[in-house]
Amino acid sequence: MTKPLANASLILYPSDTLWQPEKSESVINNLQQTQFIGDKIQNKNHSFYVGDKFLEQIAFMGCAPHIEFVANEENSKFCFIHLINLPTPQLFYSTKQARAPHCPVCKKAEKNWQQTLSDQSVIHCQQCNNTSPVETFNWRKSAGYARFFIEICNIYPREAIPQQSFLDSLKILHPVDWHYFYYCQ
Ligand SMILES: [Zn+2]
Repeated sequence: MTKPLANASLILYPSDTLWQPEKSESVINNLQQTQFIGDKIQNKNHSFYVGDKFLEQIAFMGCAPHIEFVANEENSKFCFIHLINLPTPQLFYSTKQARAPHCPVCKKAEKNWQQTLSDQSVIHCQQCNNTSPVETFNWRKSAGYARFFIEICNIYPREAIPQQSFLDSLKILHPVDWHYFYYCQ
């Protein structure tokens, strides 16, 4: 099973929690055609350099982001893309700068969700006593639940935001809404 590779990432995922690509080659081809990803990185599994149009698809905040896109000896923390494909849906959540998820029924924050999480898939809200699937909670961009994720490695929370046109373009992989969150450990 693959996990996020970086301590800080911007991660994209489809709203269809059960979906995963039939063939990873077709996902790779599609993402290379839109030049979101470039060449495969030799010594890292399922990892790719950013493509030539990456900066048109991901907007960086601030006037001069110090983002490195190429690996070199001094810099192992360069920005690259990692594809995660899991046998079952999984919840990835930030432990740093984490935010309590909001219950879909009462809309209140459930601070003790890690204690009331069962089967990694439902959370019991102690405010209203309803149990709801994890993906129906509002995680405020600090967690995602899916089988397939596109991890943009070494991006810190709110350092970059995917363009809406780019999120829409991911519908070519699977025709549902795509979302994103910041993973920070
Ligand atoms: Zn509730």
